[in-house]
Amino acid sequence: MSVTVRFAPSPTGHIHIGNVRPALFNYLFAKKQGGNFVLRYDDTDVQRSKEEYAEGIAEDLKWLGINPDRVEKQSARFALYDTAAAKLKDAGLLYPCYETPEELERRRNRARALGRPPVYDRAALKLTDEQIAEYAAAGRNPHWRFKLPNHAAGDVFAPERTEVHWDDVIRGRQTVDLASLSDPVLIRADGTYLYTLPSIVDDADMGISHVIRGEDHIANTGVQIAIFNALDAKVPEFGHHNLLTTASGEGLSKRSGALSIRSLRAEGFEPMAVCSLAVLTGTSHAVEPAKNLDALAEMLDFSGVSKSAAKFDPDDVGHLTAKLVHAMSYAEVAEHLKEAGITGGEEFWQAVRENCSTVGDVSKWWTLVTGPVASDVAEEDQEFITQALALLPSEPWDTATWGEWTKAVKGETGRKGKGLFMPLRKAITGQAHGPDLKDMLPLIGREKTLARLS
Ligand code: GLU
Repeated sequence: MSVTVRFAPSPTGHIHIGNVRPALFNYLFAKKQGGNFVLRYDDTDVQRSKEEYAEGIAEDLKWLGINPDRVEKQSARFALYDTAAAKLKDAGLLYPCYETPEELERRRNRARALGRPPVYDRAALKLTDEQIAEYAAAGRNPHWRFKLPNHAAGDVFAPERTEVHWDDVIRGRQTVDLASLSDPVLIRADGTYLYTLPSIVDDADMGISHVIRGEDHIANTGVQIAIFNALDAKVPEFGHHNLLTTASGEGLSKRSGALSIRSLRAEGFEPMAVCSLAVLTGTSHAVEPAKNLDALAEMLDFSGVSKSAAKFDPDDVGHLTAKLVHAMSYAEVAEHLKEAGITGGEEFWQAVRENCSTVGDVSKWWTLVTGPVASDVAEEDQEFITQALALLPSEPWDTATWGEWTKAVKGETGRKGKGLFMPLRKAITGQAHGPDLKDMLPLIGREKTLARLS
């Protein structure tokens, strides 16, 4: 079977690390199978959907390394949904309802009080033609519900247990009882579509072979399979993954901006750190930074995805970024160094990379080479520094210079260990910590070192 998957965000906010999980579960699955990945904007909610967010999502996906084979917008496809809705209406499977939200809420509360599940009782199916005409005359527009196939022929008011099954590619065999669910509203009273019908129509029309998404959609899948069948459409395979939550079990809200991809990008974190954390958390694979998406695709195994929440620590984006940066070759950062005006070449990168939490940190270490540096010399070290200055070797300098120099200073002053190295480091760099001076000294050069010690 040829594989086609989709990532279907609603452009009502910026995407965050929790959204990267379904995006990559789909993308990596397709990549491994030689399939196609569709980016579909679920923007039927025209009030809340914004072009600016759609553009932001495309940009964020690009930064993560996700390149869609096809991009679609539901707002350009209403005619298809109208055709499907008409087909369901003709079959008597989509029926008008006039209850107000308050009325529905009252009924749900009453059902709960009586210990019954708050499932819609299909009261609208009892309306007479006259009652419907009265509503219409009063200017009330209906919302439309899909009649779930959960009843014996002829008796829609007596739902009975009706199991829908599927072999979930992540969770194994799944069952949803359609009698436990309310007939879903597919069209609002203002004529706009809720997510369900457009999603099904598009999945069918775009030849989506696998729908991979969060486990919060499991009940939806039961309903959607029934609607696929009602439309005589081929039912895709489904897979439901656990959701990313913070350590306290809190979900990630798109609107809160928490851990949005753009803020992680602005902080200088590596895209592969974000991708690795988003994918490997809550699986049997250790959470470690994959070098690229091909490597991450090899680490993702649906059978190893846990059934409990995928709890993650946001600080790990930083830890994984640091690990990736420490292992980067000069070739991988050369472009960034050039853009930042850093001319230290490979020697400089090798000298500082272990001290960089993000690639952007190179600039801070480069100022140690170029200066200006505010030398930090304590009163009691003045004389020691003057002695050390007198022993500064002549150029050319290389990575052996620091060892030769400090050996000579040790012999002359009798200082050793921290008492020897720390005052020199603080005088030359103005800081107590930083890259190895053995590597930095040749980059700084004799002239600047001399000036900082004077
Ligand atoms: N737009 C839906 C969402 O963001 C898509 C869900 C699905 O993958 O079917 O929840």
